[in-house]
Amino acid sequence: MTRIKQELDALQKERGHLDKAGLRALARRIREPLHRLHEVASFFPHFRLTPPPQVSVGVCRDLACGLRGSRALREELHAALHSDGVPVTHISCLGRCDRAPAVRIATPTVERNYLRAAATRVQDAVRSALDGELPAGDLDAREGAERPTWQIDVGNDYATARAFAERLRTDPDAAPREAISALESAGLLGMGGAGGRAYKKWSDVLGAPGDVKYVVCNGDESEPATFKDRELLLHAPWLTLEGMLLAGLLLGAERGFVYLRHEYDEQIAAVEAELKRMREQGLTGTGILGTDRSFELEVFISPGGYICGEQTALIEAIQSNRAEPRNRPPELQTNGLWDRPTLLNNVETFAWVPSILARGDGSWFAGAGVRGQRGMRFFSVSGDVASPGVFEVPNGITLRELIERAGGMADGQTLKAVAASGPSGGFLPRRLPRGLLPPRFADEALSDDATHFDILDWELSIPTARAMGVMLGAGLVIYGDRADMVEQAVISTTFYRRESCGKCVPCRIGSAKLDEIGERLRARQLSARDMEAIRSEILALSSAMEETAICGLGTVASNPLRTLLGHFGDEVAGYLEV
Ligand code: SF4
Repeated sequence: MTRIKQELDALQKERGHLDKAGLRALARRIREPLHRLHEVASFFPHFRLTPPPQVSVGVCRDLACGLRGSRALREELHAALHSDGVPVTHISCLGRCDRAPAVRIATPTVERNYLRAAATRVQDAVRSALDGELPAGDLDAREGAERPTWQIDVGNDYATARAFAERLRTDPDAAPREAISALESAGLLGMGGAGGRAYKKWSDVLGAPGDVKYVVCNGDESEPATFKDRELLLHAPWLTLEGMLLAGLLLGAERGFVYLRHEYDEQIAAVEAELKRMREQGLTGTGILGTDRSFELEVFISPGGYICGEQTALIEAIQSNRAEPRNRPPELQTNGLWDRPTLLNNVETFAWVPSILARGDGSWFAGAGVRGQRGMRFFSVSGDVASPGVFEVPNGITLRELIERAGGMADGQTLKAVAASGPSGGFLPRRLPRGLLPPRFADEALSDDATHFDILDWELSIPTARAMGVMLGAGLVIYGDRADMVEQAVISTTFYRRESCGKCVPCRIGSAKLDEIGERLRARQLSARDMEAIRSEILALSSAMEETAICGLGTVASNPLRTLLGHFGDEVAGYLEV
């Protein structure tokens, strides 16, 4: 079992970067060919093959930060710090969209976030760092802030796991079936994006042949605008870990990994501290809670890259390979980590499990939705709302109600648009024309004479999103009437070009082509006549990428530009050459 990633981490920590001599010595010591070390080191942004600058600045460029002027902020910082030899670059979403714009300052030994970042404060911090001390950054755990009160939080005494272990001791055959049946009745869906039925995955892994199985938690929350797992991990890490423990006991898995993005420093510390507490209480190790089951849990810190959030890419990263998504089938449930049956769920999905099982047969959760929807979930809301943040809500809550929970629209603005799944679903306008909606949904949701659907009336849930033919993720960006949708679409297209892993040729080339189109539009280099040809080109790229992409990135990369052209033609016209 290779541990190349951990060895590279240690080498970089010791020498500041992965120098040639160090890599050669490491290859000899761990008996791996040098090219294996290089293929890992050159893939992930965390690894450095050249010496790092004394100080560097990364300015998040994505949706909410873009809305708060991160492009101008980068330019201002670059102009001010260039002569000091401090590189100022754009970086992908830091998961702090609620306090945009977000900046991360790095020295060779420490990285810190500066949020709602003003140029003067960042410059002062950089100058202090150049003098040898990087000042304190902004933490997610705001001092004095009360821990949120959530219905999901059943406490940190692991009572559900203890009760399950007791049941496992008395009836080892019935206990797993009962628990999976409760998840089925609850209607719990995967909270990582795809929205598959959670019980089905658990059941598939339980039924998969093989004595060695794994449990993996996807905490690589890198989708722009999505930061709800950040709050769950920080304020109630025991929920996700208890969900994983329940999975380990239920499946007979002996090892589990909590995969966390490296920018979640406080969350990593919170999970590590909770794991220590679990060990001290005998909740990991051998013979857990009087059963014959053993389960070890460890944290795996991501070496970076949005693509690592794709479930098969994440598995490849744990295996110390380049994080390139796998072709499926086979599915992870039968051929996952090290080709063994693997249960991979998102942070929130695991976190709901103790809460559901603690309350019996799943009916509590199923009944918690509103307007005919089942269950609850967390949304992260950012953009033009008064109080961006993370909200635990019933499925079926309307977009209007969700915006009210986020304090309403900011600065007296009215709603213009929403990105309901970060950039991946593109942008929905306030008023969706009837003709663009699936007829069945339109007939049910609209009166006979209504020409538009007011997006504020959307009863948010995965089933309603599917009925509308749109995407709903966990991160929603709300746009007021002053938002520049062309800018937002170009930001999103650039994001996909930068984050494409390059494994599929259509995605590698198509995402670059889309980005080029977006940049030309933003630079006002396109005429109305160009746009006609470009519209067809975007549609052709979109369908080629959808048909051939191995993973979801390639299938959604055209959505920002496609929806921009489809819904915001007036704004596009304002960018055309005259
Ligand atoms: Fe990589 Fe894009 Fe292919 Fe996904 S679709 S595997 S990101 S090249």
